[in-house]
Amino acid sequence: MSTAESFSAPGFDLPAFEEWLTMRTPGQTEFHQAVLELLHDIEPLLQERAEYRIQNVMQRLAEPDRIISFRITWVDDEGQVQVNRGWRVQHSGVIGPYKGGIRFHPTVSESVLKFLAFEQTFKNALTGLAMGGGKGGSDFDPRGRSDGEIMRFCQGFMRELHRHIGATTDIPAGDINVGSREIGYLFGEYRRLANHFDGTLTGKNLEFGGSHVRLEATGFGLVYFLQEMLKAAGESLEGKQVLVSGAGNVALHAARKVAELGGKVVSLSSSEGTLFVQDGFGTADVDQLLHGELRSGAALRALAEQGRGEWLAKQTPWSLPCQIALPCATQNELEDGDAQTLASQGCRFVAEGANMPCTAAALRVFEDAGIRHAPGKASNAGGVALSGLEMHQNASFISLPYDELDVQLRAIMQRIHEKCVEHGSQNDGFIHYRRGANIAGFEHVAKALIAQGIG
Ligand code: NDP
Repeated sequence: MSTAESFSAPGFDLPAFEEWLTMRTPGQTEFHQAVLELLHDIEPLLQERAEYRIQNVMQRLAEPDRIISFRITWVDDEGQVQVNRGWRVQHSGVIGPYKGGIRFHPTVSESVLKFLAFEQTFKNALTGLAMGGGKGGSDFDPRGRSDGEIMRFCQGFMRELHRHIGATTDIPAGDINVGSREIGYLFGEYRRLANHFDGTLTGKNLEFGGSHVRLEATGFGLVYFLQEMLKAAGESLEGKQVLVSGAGNVALHAARKVAELGGKVVSLSSSEGTLFVQDGFGTADVDQLLHGELRSGAALRALAEQGRGEWLAKQTPWSLPCQIALPCATQNELEDGDAQTLASQGCRFVAEGANMPCTAAALRVFEDAGIRHAPGKASNAGGVALSGLEMHQNASFISLPYDELDVQLRAIMQRIHEKCVEHGSQNDGFIHYRRGANIAGFEHVAKALIAQGIG
């Protein structure tokens, strides 16, 4: 059977698709995981609507529009020339210019960036803003690198990337290890090479075209989404015990907002271990972590050394009791064993701050245990939504005030929650957030793809 036959009439052949995907992209396990997670939720739509099969929508979306890969050369502080690899995956541009972050981490590979770009396309669709999906990054490890080395690496990265991006073409932003410092260096090099000043990167400092609330948006948006989940279940955040993993941008802003709204965040973590604070991190603790000199694990350990909490070396937070878990570090950080422990200890809500932090097996455990679980493409969409608002402000040369943008962020998260409820509500009253988000995101992208013809 040819692939065209397998995926069209009379029904969608899911096993044949899975086989095609794994044979076509061998070893790209993260990418397979992301595609299959979506596919399992939208399969009934593919069976029901012949148009999706005839148009081969799923196969078209499983192939990014293009992948740009390049070499980065830069000089370290010892005068040694270093070589890294960089990529930009432009996944889908059917609902707007490519939009998605840049990640610098030794685990970055084509598979990781393809999964992130794939997720980004549907996430961006859920925001209701005109943004396509993309993602980029490098296997560069910034740990232990000086400020000068970071700057030279960012400049080397942009020397190649600049020819592929633009304010209406592809607008990168930050992600793991790419914060406002790196965006500043990347933007500076872009501006010098392009010889014009525009909104080609988001997450910029306020002094040069950045937006209020962008820094906080992913973490705050996650908590606004969580509040909607709790409200839908007739509950509130007040007094609830919350586990947060990670100690970066997303984790700390999520923890800050939970603490502000009366929830009790008892953990933050890094790749080195977990800091457990029984009485909960206060807003002052989180502010110290947000504004201090030290980053991530070092900052958490310093807090423990000051007598604030217990440092659990090499441990994740998932063995601690909680009602709510917010994984905010990285992909596949929460496995099925962790999910079982969470369920047995009374966890009832999981909302993803990171992208795909839960393995497929962990998601099955949540489903079986009746835990309400929000996928990152819905619950962490606040960051890209604010990036969309930064693009709007840059295009019209305006800067909106903080409070107005915070209100807009909350409204966007509420609308995404409504879409999940509309497409994910079950007869027994359970809300299957992942299914709801996948159906709503997929339908939006598929309609735009079909309407624009073959090409
Ligand atoms: P940061 O670089 O600010 O922080 C990442 C945090 O995660 C650090 O505490 C880091 O610890 C930890 N971490 C990274 N890798 C691992 C690992 N392999 N095991 C355990 N801990 C790890 O990144 P962000 O907060 O920006 O991003 C976190 C997640 O949120 C990512 O999945 C990202 O894609 C997602 N996201 C981010 C958005 C944003 O606006 N920034 C938007 C939407 C999603 P350590 O320093 O020890 O490695």
